[in-house]
Order: sequence, then C-alpha cells, then structure tokens
Amino acid sequence: MIEIEFSLAVTIYLIVSVFSVIGLWIASERKNVQGLFSLEDAFFWQCSICTYVYVDSRHNAISKCPRCESFNKKE
Ligand SMILES: [Zn+2]
Repeated sequence: MIEIEFSLAVTIYLIVSVFSVIGLWIASERKNVQGLFSLEDAFFWQCSICTYVYVDSRHNAISKCPRCESFNKKE
C-alpha cells in the first residue's frame, strides 16, 4: 500500500477539484461565446440599397429595411 501524508492528500484533492471546476467553467464559457456569435451572424442584415445595417431575427430569407423600406435577400 502506498503511504502518503495527510497534508499531501489534502493538497492533491484541492488541486484536482480546483482544476476540474476551472475546466468546466472554461468549457461552458466557450460554448456560450460560440452560441452568441452564431446568433449575431444569422440576425445581421445589410441593405443593398442604402447599406444600412440592422438586426432582424424574425425573417430568414427576405427582410425589409427599416430605413428605406426596400426588400433584401440573404446571400
Ligand atoms: Zn435600406
């Protein structure tokens, strides 16, 4: 049987638990950031007539520009 001191066992336990919490935190943050960027890219529209950039989350293929009221198609 391997004999270790109590303080060494506590130190190893603390290091393992802290690194697992940090690993889970980094993984969840990375997932949140990727979800945020994919949503923003899908909802951004740029008008082909007046080059106005706006956000429209309700339409996928064709959207109406709020400034000049012309219809824009997703490329
Ligand atoms: Zn426009």
